[in-house]
Amino acid sequence: MYQADLDTYGQWCDPRTEKLTMRTIGWLDIAVPYVTGPTPVAFHRRLLEHCVHGVLRLMCGVHHCQFCNNEPTRTTLWYGNRKVPCDNGEIWVSGGDVIYVAPAMVYHYVTEHGYCPPDEFIDAVMQGPLPGTAEYCALITRWGMRVCSIM
Ligand SMILES: [Zn+2]
Repeated sequence: MYQADLDTYGQWCDPRTEKLTMRTIGWLDIAVPYVTGPTPVAFHRRLLEHCVHGVLRLMCGVHHCQFCNNEPTRTTLWYGNRKVPCDNGEIWVSGGDVIYVAPAMVYHYVTEHGYCPPDEFIDAVMQGPLPGTAEYCALITRWGMRVCSIM
């Protein structure tokens, strides 16, 4: 499901998040060119934490990476010494008064396909709270969500 970066995310209609600005990140499609370029390793590490502790897990079915062309193999990522699927669900990243919503596949797009998301998303990942912290837990509860680990 393609959506342009920083587009308005409109799939969530919980009254708690209605007043929040939600922006899409990394909803890529093979038919639409995307920005490529190097991104910091520290960003990859923090993005990985989001992608193995996403939200809305198992809501929309499994999505195969169009760029790998490896159907029907599921797309996975390495978390420590564990290989875990990353082809289902979303991550929500707090950027202060903006929530960035990306597919859990976004880590795979960044590290395997050179996708370079907008700077403001990279900043939010670097500066916002990580899943597993009390701060993130408080935010996501306020948004009416809960974290779903894929491990
Ligand atoms: Zn891929």
